[in-house]
Amino acid sequence: MKIDQVSDSVYVVAGTNVNWALISDGSGVTVVDAGYPADTGAVLGSIREIGHEIADVAAILLTHAHLDHIGAIATLVEQTGAPVYTGAEEVRHAKREYLQQITPAEMVRQLGNRAGRRWVRQTALAVAGHLRTRVPSATATQDAVLAALPGGFVAVPTPGHTSGHTAYLMPSESVLFSGDALVTAHPLSRHAGAQLLPPFFNHDEDETLGSAQLLATQPARTIVPGHGPAASHDPDQPLRIFHQH
Ligand SMILES: [Zn+2]
Repeated sequence: MKIDQVSDSVYVVAGTNVNWALISDGSGVTVVDAGYPADTGAVLGSIREIGHEIADVAAILLTHAHLDHIGAIATLVEQTGAPVYTGAEEVRHAKREYLQQITPAEMVRQLGNRAGRRWVRQTALAVAGHLRTRVPSATATQDAVLAALPGGFVAVPTPGHTSGHTAYLMPSESVLFSGDALVTAHPLSRHAGAQLLPPFFNHDEDETLGSAQLLATQPARTIVPGHGPAASHDPDQPLRIFHQH
């Protein structure tokens, strides 16, 4: 785990090939995404590391319900009773009324090269025993509730990677939490910088590209992605987004 403070109240934590973020203000902590199941100890540790108690967690914002973003949620909810908010459509995904994720065949295909084999091994270890993890307490975001959380947020619906994927803008410090709708690196990508995840990760590629283009127009000076380092962004300059065709 590696913690980077990217603005007055925002900390980005790199876990197992995935990020979560902590937004700390006087009234408590908002957690954005929650790592793989195997990152649960690191998620709890990161909250203490920035000077808070686990009980300070006021809410968990979820960009989408893939296993590498929901790992510590059950433990956080159990220990704090904190509410979990995500996009209305993503609530159904979080409850596993359906599942949109990389197929087993696509996982096997990754074994064809060294970077892929390493990623598959790390992923298998990070989810072992927790493949059925879900978020039964997820509820749909409401504008007034999000605005009142530590940090203060605006939801930005960004379907494509999953049908209910939702990014979050924090206007007070111009930070955009883009989740997997716009990332800056991934172990399975050779490209560095703003990009879409490889197509086999995205439920609908056209929607994913449209959502990334929408995010590029947000008034954000810092982009905090689900994968890869946080990036500075000049909202007045066009953002070049790499994607595989
Ligand atoms: Zn994802």
